[in-house]
Amino acid sequence: MTQKTCFEAEVIQVVLETMDVLTFRFRIPEDVPFSWKAGQFVNLTVDTPEYGPDMSRLTRAYSISSAPCEGNFLDLTVKYYEDGHVSRHLREVTYLGEVMTIEGPFGKFFYEEGMGDRIALIGGGAGVAPMRAIAMQILEQGLDVDIRYLASCRTPNDMIYLATLIGWTETHPNLHVTHTITRPEGSTWNGATGRIDAAFLRHHAPPDSTDLYYVAGPTEMVKGVRTALKQDLGVDKSRIIWEPWG
Ligand SMILES: Cc1cc2nc3c(=O)[nH]c(=O)nc-3n(C[C@H](O)[C@H](O)[C@H](O)COP(=O)(O)OP(=O)(O)OC[C@H]3O[C@@H](n4cnc5c(N)ncnc54)[C@H](O)[C@@H]3O)c2cc1C
Repeated sequence: MTQKTCFEAEVIQVVLETMDVLTFRFRIPEDVPFSWKAGQFVNLTVDTPEYGPDMSRLTRAYSISSAPCEGNFLDLTVKYYEDGHVSRHLREVTYLGEVMTIEGPFGKFFYEEGMGDRIALIGGGAGVAPMRAIAMQILEQGLDVDIRYLASCRTPNDMIYLATLIGWTETHPNLHVTHTITRPEGSTWNGATGRIDAAFLRHHAPPDSTDLYYVAGPTEMVKGVRTALKQDLGVDKSRIIWEPWG
């Protein structure tokens, strides 16, 4: 059972994942009883005086991209939108030591032992944030779970966590990572291309060898994948755990 908690947390590290995605690490104060299940999200409240008095404190939901087993911190991986208030603040204003308010955990987007032995983690763009956490937790616990990690992004330069994923696949044969690139033009990419559609799903995570599907990311992508799973692949909705971000 995870209990909801609200606490102040300091930014202690910022990592540039791609040109428009950053991961922010927050220290969890030792006296705060914050626990969560890998894959859940928090509400982040940020002081944003740069937007004027009416928008000087804003809240957005972010999936926790780290797993509880990694340490007394939590990571949020955030895509930058030029016209987005909180993501722009995080990218252009945030400094090491800035304090923000975190409330959570929330959501049913998590994996627990026994839920299925063969899972597909399907993320579009920064939708891979909870997938990283779930994969990390399963690998760390040494569970005998087959993981299909399927991610779509615009160009090869937009692949998030690539070095980490490569490292994990070298030591964990139960993890299979596939990226599909929606805008491969001008690159030397020779892997999968196009969106995550029925044909891609049938090839990389067919229903007869997948127990559970996790889908997260931009709403249009999540709804498209869910529809393809249900209508084209005949997957029952009870086997799809989804989290649209719109
Ligand atoms: C449960 C949940 C988990 C989430 N986890 C993450 C996460 O791990 N990482 C992450 O980056 N985001 C995540 N989001 C989305 C996040 O909450 C914000 O919506 C996002 O950061 C944009 O906020 P903003 O203040 O920058 O933009 P806003 O000021 O709210 O919006 C301004 C403009 O940004 C654009 N925009 C905003 N959101 C999106 C979107 N999802 N897709 C396309 N365009 C958009 C639109 O053009 C919009 O007009 C999650 C959302 C939910 C509901």
